[in-house]
Amino acid sequence: MIVMKFGGSSLATPEKIRQCAELVASRIGRRPLVVLSACGKTTDNLIAAAEAAMQGRVDTDRIEQYHIELVDALGLDRRVVEPLLYQLTILLHGVSLLRELTPKTLDHIVSFGERMSTRIVASAMAGEGVPAAAYNAYDLGLVTDSKHQSAAPLDGIEAGIAKEIDKIKLVPVVTGFLGKDKNGNITTLGRGGSDFSASIFGAAIHAEEVQIWTDVNGIMTCDPSVDQNAQSLPIVSFDEASELAYYGAEVLHPNTLVPAIRNNIPVRVLNTTNPEDPGTEILTTPVRTERIAKSVVYKENVCLINISSPRLLSAVQILSTAFEALMENHIEVHMATTSEATVSFVTNRHYEEEQLEPAIAQIEKLGRVVVERNKAIICLVGEELRGRVGVLSKIFGALAAQGVKAKMVSQSASEINVAFLVDNTEVAPAVKAIHRLLLDGAS
Ligand code: ASP
Ligand code: MG
Repeated sequence: MIVMKFGGSSLATPEKIRQCAELVASRIGRRPLVVLSACGKTTDNLIAAAEAAMQGRVDTDRIEQYHIELVDALGLDRRVVEPLLYQLTILLHGVSLLRELTPKTLDHIVSFGERMSTRIVASAMAGEGVPAAAYNAYDLGLVTDSKHQSAAPLDGIEAGIAKEIDKIKLVPVVTGFLGKDKNGNITTLGRGGSDFSASIFGAAIHAEEVQIWTDVNGIMTCDPSVDQNAQSLPIVSFDEASELAYYGAEVLHPNTLVPAIRNNIPVRVLNTTNPEDPGTEILTTPVRTERIAKSVVYKENVCLINISSPRLLSAVQILSTAFEALMENHIEVHMATTSEATVSFVTNRHYEEEQLEPAIAQIEKLGRVVVERNKAIICLVGEELRGRVGVLSKIFGALAAQGVKAKMVSQSASEINVAFLVDNTEVAPAVKAIHRLLLDGAS
């Protein structure tokens, strides 16, 4: 069996849905299990509708219209989605009456996206002559913990899932992103979590391959919107893919890979608009190319927090207190460097002043804290970087030629990435310069 996962953008229009149905039909011999995201931007729209209901405004027009139009254009019976739209409206009225929107309720509300997309696509597939049926992942044994909005699957659920799938005779079209906790409450695996679902199902059924269908040619050497010479990568290792996802490549949810890694199942990222392209295969075994690295990624709008202690505290003391303060205030750190009495952190994203303030107040007890905003992390990833000398000087040479001075250089012990910090405004010239170096070939 194979798992075929389609993301929201691949399901955004009736034409795209038909195309996905055709892709599944063409692979019917490999016994596909289909995992879906919500159509288009439905999850965002559901969150917006829930937040509006919290303010007393119940408005499902946009979501309703969009789904009804999809159903009509595909020539399906409106009853495929109507009962769900009705339930959604009732739930939103509940939120607006109570003015209460807990993470548990929000999970229930966003679940309608995947519950509708699976029903629509399964019906559309039946129309294409592919006998398919829609299933909620939680009805097939995807049990999670109760951490709403970022739930994790419970250990040992695979056998139960495999047993359920075994009973299904049609092509299963399964909701991504969703689970249920032991108490029967709907949970979600975090934004972008359908990839994770695909990998969980892949592991459970010992799939020969997990296919993640998107609208780009797999994982690329660089963001093509920054450099149009970006090329797709035929192979990356699990470790490289995790680093790329961590540092901002949008194709894969980092947790996606864990169940597949454990079970040695290859993951392939493919393009719905160019299905003949082999895309990118993600393997457990590392592969080296003649280049200096595989890909350059970036993450904009991060914050730099510098702490310098005049009180002769050691870096370890500063680190432990600062980490605790950041953790308590739910601020995530992507990079950290230390010197004798200075410690610098880079956050994973932009945080507003008010969000940082309580943590900063705690850290200020140690010394002077300076926060710099509008920074960006640029990261070069590849097995090729391991043990290779002279790459750093090339990188900094290329940056200097653009007048970019990199700060806070860090390379993890695994040696497969080199990350550094620049200003947001320097991202385009810096990424382009490094990408050029990368495409130029051997080091
Ligand atoms: N629909 C969910 C989201 O937009 C899950 C996913 O697309 O992977 O985050
Ligand atoms: Mg996604």
